[in-house]
Order: sequence, then structure tokens, then C-alpha cells
Amino acid sequence: MSSMKVLEGSYSGLRCAPCGKSLEPCAVELEYMGSRFNVELPACPSCGAVFIPEELAMGKMAQVEHLLEDK
Ligand SMILES: [Zn+2]
Repeated sequence: MSSMKVLEGSYSGLRCAPCGKSLEPCAVELEYMGSRFNVELPACPSCGAVFIPEELAMGKMAQVEHLLEDK
């Protein structure tokens, strides 16, 4: 299983809007194009909401596709 680390520190300062808690890095399993990836994403320790930043949605998925191509 591939593991990626994204958002190095760029989530610091983000807060969960409903809870007002600082987001903490959390290992999240994403499924994409039939493969699973462990990605560290900022998540709210209170309600568990995961913040998926635009850069992940827009750019990092291209990296995931690249990983798939390398196999
Ligand atoms: Zn929350």
C-alpha cells in the first residue's frame, strides 16, 4: 500500500468551523481508481471531519495517478 505525506505543515492554523478546534494530522484511507492510499490529512479531533484541501483535490491526485503509472 502506498503512503503519501501531503500538506507538510500547511494545515497548521486551520480550524474546524463548527468546533473551533485546531485540525490535527490524521491518516486517512483514500480510494482512487481502484487503489487505496494512506494519506495524512488534517482532521478535527472533536468531530472527525477531514479537511481535503484544494491542492490535494487539484494537484496531488495527479501524483497518485503517477504512482499508479509507475507500478
Ligand atoms: Zn469539528
